Amino acid sequence: MERRVVIIEDERDVARLLEFNLRGAGFVVVSAETGAQGLGEVQRHKPDVVVLDLMLPDQSGYDVCKQIRADPSVGDAGVLMLTARGEAEDRILGLEVGADDYVVKPFVVREVVLRVTALANRLAERRARPAVSEGGGTLKVGPIELDPVTHDVRIAGAPAQLRPLEYKLLQLLVSDPGRVFSREELLEQVWEMRGDINTRTVDVHVRRLRVSLGAAADVIETVHGFGYRARRDGAGS
Ligand code: CA
Repeated sequence: MERRVVIIEDERDVARLLEFNLRGAGFVVVSAETGAQGLGEVQRHKPDVVVLDLMLPDQSGYDVCKQIRADPSVGDAGVLMLTARGEAEDRILGLEVGADDYVVKPFVVREVVLRVTALANRLAERRARPAVSEGGGTLKVGPIELDPVTHDVRIAGAPAQLRPLEYKLLQLLVSDPGRVFSREELLEQVWEMRGDINTRTVDVHVRRLRVSLGAAADVIETVHGFGYRARRDGAGS
C-alpha cells in the first residue's frame, strides 16, 4: 500500500534532502513551505506521517500540529517535529500539542527516515490490529468505557474527546486495572521512548487526561513515589 509523507519545512535544502531520502525509502512525498500550505496538503493527501518544522514563516509548528490533531479526517497521522532547539521544554510542548516524536536539527537524515518509517508502521499496525482487550469488547473501569476497536471513549455514557496520547495512556492504564505503571514504563509504552526525555512529560499528560475525563478523573490514581494506575473497578466507588 502507498505510504505518504507530507513535509512542512521552509528551508528548501532541508526539505529536498528529506524528500530525496524518504522517496528512496519508498514513500510518496509532498512538500509545503508554510503552515497554511502544509495543512492544505495534509488534508488533500491524508498522509501516514507529517514531518513538521517548528519554525515556519506564517505560524509555528505547534499550531500546525494542533490543527492536524483537531481534524478527525487526518488526526491519526504520525507527526515528527523538527526543532532547532534542544531544550526539554520545547520537546515537551511539542509532545503536548500532539506530536509523536521529534528530531533536533541538525539531524542525521537516516535517523529521520527511520523515525518516519517507525511512525508509519505504528499507524499501519494500529489501523490493522486494534488493541487486544478481554473478549475483544469494551474496556470498562468505573464510569469510563473505552472501545479499543473504534477508539471511542465514553464517560457515564457520554462521548469524551481525548487527544491521541491521552487515549493511549488511558487505554494502557485501563487495560490492567489495579496494576501500577511507573513513569518510565509509561514513557516507553505510550511514547515509545527510553530515557531521552524527562518523565515529567508523563505527569503533564496524566494531568491533561484527568481534565479530559472530568468527573471520572479519579479513576486514574497517583501512586506516590512510583507511578499511576487505573483503580480496580468497584474500588473506592
Ligand atoms: Ca524553518
